[in-house]
Amino acid sequence: RVQAIGDQLASKSSIPPVFKVAPSGPRVAGKVVIITGANSILGIGRASAHQFAEHGAKAVYICDYDDSNLEAHKREINASFPQVDVHTRQFDAADEKAVKEVIDDALKRYGRLDVFFANAGITGPHTLFTEIEADDFMETMRVNSLGVFLAAKLAAPAMQVTSATKPAPSGSIIATASVAGLRSNAGSTPYSASKATVISMAQTVAFQLAGTGVRINALCPGLIETGMTAPVFEAARARGTQGRIGQLNPLKRAGHADEIARVALFLGSDESSYVNGQAWAVDGGLSAGHPYVP
Ligand code: NAD
Repeated sequence: RVQAIGDQLASKSSIPPVFKVAPSGPRVAGKVVIITGANSILGIGRASAHQFAEHGAKAVYICDYDDSNLEAHKREINASFPQVDVHTRQFDAADEKAVKEVIDDALKRYGRLDVFFANAGITGPHTLFTEIEADDFMETMRVNSLGVFLAAKLAAPAMQVTSATKPAPSGSIIATASVAGLRSNAGSTPYSASKATVISMAQTVAFQLAGTGVRINALCPGLIETGMTAPVFEAARARGTQGRIGQLNPLKRAGHADEIARVALFLGSDESSYVNGQAWAVDGGLSAGHPYVP
């Protein structure tokens, strides 16, 4: 019935329907997906690889600087979804040549690239800004910001390549930023700056990609329990203050990597075909305001 109403509206509309999304079908059917920062066991990248595999991706490239778990993740995904081609790559997300090699491999094997999830990131130094060395600042910017810039620079042209299985240029670049890039959390000056840069790049690149069929969005997680934040959670447990974690957001809890992965899946799918150039906060409401203290 929903589809029938959609068809009726489409027949009256002057805007041609860009994609026909089958609500009950695989959400990313046949898509070729590259995910960086996918090694961490608790991480957003690994959870996302599972989501894309579960929802019909043809191929998923899982890439990381640290490749200690990549083969295990591949086996784990294929145990549940044997039809998905999972490729592992050890690489530095901020190395232009290495990023290009993965993209070229996808084009060579499949003739298409549909989703690039630029998710690799580091926390950088969490200390007072006056105590941070310039080299540490630059390394945070290199991985978190340059990594996203290179992903966009190299993935966007590849997504415009057409083939027998991809008749029109299209694609979705998803860049992991952070609520720390939207609002200060007073934690780390380089980290916040690097993530604000990601948001700004997504906005600018969206305009520069105008008319190409390629979209880009920044994904801004709040506090999520992952490899990156594990020390924070462990320290709180050791102090007995774990009950305070996540208390600043209206949901009063930290998030799970899967809750970010599901939004990445949406942004990578055609369901989000009109979502472009946005910073998507997925933070339990943390960035919506501040608690009312009478
Ligand atoms: P994680 O540490 O579990 O995963 C990050 C992964 O990135 C790791 O596997 C790491 O090896 C990889 N990586 C680091 N540098 C790399 C490089 N140069 N090249 C390739 N891979 C590299 O942490 P996570 O929380 O899953 O992080 C994913 C993204 O989410 C990061 O960009 C992070 O900044 C962002 N983020 C996380 C949170 C949170 O609370 N966990 C909040 C906001 C944003």
